[in-house]
Amino acid sequence: MKSSLFLCLLPLLLLALILAACGDDASPTTTDASKTPTPHSTASAGTTVLPTPEQSSLPTPSVSEPQTSGSDSVNSSDLPSDSSLSTPETGEPTTVPPVTTTEEPAATTPPEVTTTTPPVKTATTEKVTTTKPVTTTKPVTTTKPVTTVPAEPPAPEVHWVVTCNEYINLRKEASTASATITRITVGESVELIKFTGSFAKVKYHGLTGYVNASYLTRPDGLGTDADLTVVEPVQNYSYEQMQVDLQTLAEKFPDLLTLSTIGKSEEGRDLTLAILGNREAEHTIFMQASIHAREHVVTQIAMGEIDYILHHLDTVLENGMTVAELLDRVAIHIVPMSNPDGVTISQTATVPPPFADQYGSDTAVLWKANAKGIDLNANFDALWYKYESMYQSDTPAYAGYKGTAPECAAESKALAEYLRANDFELTLSYHTSGSLIYWSFDADNLPEVNAKSKEIATLLSKKNGYGLGSQSSSSTAGLKDYAMQALGIPSLTIEFAINSAPAPLREFEQIWARAKETLLTSAQWVLKTE
Ligand SMILES: [Zn+2]
Repeated sequence: MKSSLFLCLLPLLLLALILAACGDDASPTTTDASKTPTPHSTASAGTTVLPTPEQSSLPTPSVSEPQTSGSDSVNSSDLPSDSSLSTPETGEPTTVPPVTTTEEPAATTPPEVTTTTPPVKTATTEKVTTTKPVTTTKPVTTTKPVTTVPAEPPAPEVHWVVTCNEYINLRKEASTASATITRITVGESVELIKFTGSFAKVKYHGLTGYVNASYLTRPDGLGTDADLTVVEPVQNYSYEQMQVDLQTLAEKFPDLLTLSTIGKSEEGRDLTLAILGNREAEHTIFMQASIHAREHVVTQIAMGEIDYILHHLDTVLENGMTVAELLDRVAIHIVPMSNPDGVTISQTATVPPPFADQYGSDTAVLWKANAKGIDLNANFDALWYKYESMYQSDTPAYAGYKGTAPECAAESKALAEYLRANDFELTLSYHTSGSLIYWSFDADNLPEVNAKSKEIATLLSKKNGYGLGSQSSSSTAGLKDYAMQALGIPSLTIEFAINSAPAPLREFEQIWARAKETLLTSAQWVLKTE
């Protein structure tokens, strides 16, 4: 069937090649770049127009993949390896933007193969009484010897659709410098083998190669309906929507989701805490998202995980426990939006009053700090004095200002107090972008906690294909750094997404597919190391 399909499509393929030959290696996206109001242009209002680092480091516009600087070579190996990347700060490892937003050209109904693509839905999301780990798309569950499946079938075919303007390149290696095998036009589907860094290893008409993963979406649109029951993927998932969804979930699962708050933001919004699982559990882990405002897609990932976990209680995990049993042993404390004021600034493109003369709405979209212009993830008491950033500012700013003292911002103070008041065995911080997991801090002086952090980072990396990143010495004063140095808690900063923040909606599925097991894997790891 495949070969006949291939024959049918051969003329199309040839046509595509001919068409493609008309252009240079130019990006499917760059063509749109001029008309797309990318959020990277800065303030119009007179004063200091802060160039975003993205702007200044824009690559030649003729590359089709958004280049995650540094990570290309890093990710070129199959197994994500420790790259010792030295990015200037915990936040973004300098993802250079392709064309951030809206270039989704209506993903035309993908041609052939797509029909064979039940993205392993557990149809009725409700009580997925999955007799077996219908464990959806996970290509990873191999470690289990218990498999009842007869002769190991080749990894489940998971098809993804190319969403771009014209075409993307299928390359020999996971690197933009690698040779192009062929081009894949918009709307065509590929079979996903695995993600690796910002690339996906795929099969396309018998050819195997690598494409930029950010151009892959699911054929069924935002194909997460098997996973998400309450949370809906949108471009700007707001503070208000998060509260509504949390209430809905807490009403449905009163014994397994407990809502409270760890404090208030500078503008008086709740720093909402959701405890997932048995409140009295002997093991606890902590996760927070969106401490950097414009990276707000990770709030949706955090919320998606809560939704997914609660609706898959009967699913059997790799360690043999059901999700429900795991939640009985491990409570997961989640602050899904650590910086609600900043997120609101970014999502509404509204500059807060004190900065009205300084910035325009374009910069508001790129807001990283809190409403007072403090970068919360540079405001913790962990080598705070050494903090340096590519955004560096000595005064309150949309990014790069560490404040007058550690914990001088309401949000970072509340987070630090909550960490001190509990006895967490792991902290996770969700950021974008770069497809990397940062695990180290002050490694020379903190060997034990670094070793443990690296262990869980490696475990997650094997599953989601994100590379490991070490930290540069100037990257300090983050939540992870504080948890590791002051409290001795193994901690990770996970940089989801490929495109620079805010991540475009079309990236959601790709991020979600890689992110959705993060908490479950982490909770199992905590149990394993007890
Ligand atoms: Zn960040």
